[in-house]
Amino acid sequence: MDIKFDLRTTGEALPDAFLDSAELGLLFESTRRSIGDGIQRKFRDVVCEEHGQAPAFRISGVYDRNIEEMDIQYHVDTCCQIFLLRVMQILNQRG
Ligand SMILES: [Zn+2]
Repeated sequence: MDIKFDLRTTGEALPDAFLDSAELGLLFESTRRSIGDGIQRKFRDVVCEEHGQAPAFRISGVYDRNIEEMDIQYHVDTCCQIFLLRVMQILNQRG
């Protein structure tokens, strides 16, 4: 399964920043691990019924240092539209 991460920061660090750069590294690392594990678990046996292909994921996360929040977006590549809909459904299921 193809899972790529693109995690970065934006904005200037606040003088009394909640997370320093080492802690941000840890935040990125744990984000990578928890999202990666979740996707692996949900999509371990999922392939397109028609084309037999697995989905590919790209997760981009931007940590905004001004508001100290992380915005995460999922991008999914699939062989066809029908399988994309199925993947999105599974992705939105809890747990
Ligand atoms: Zn397909």
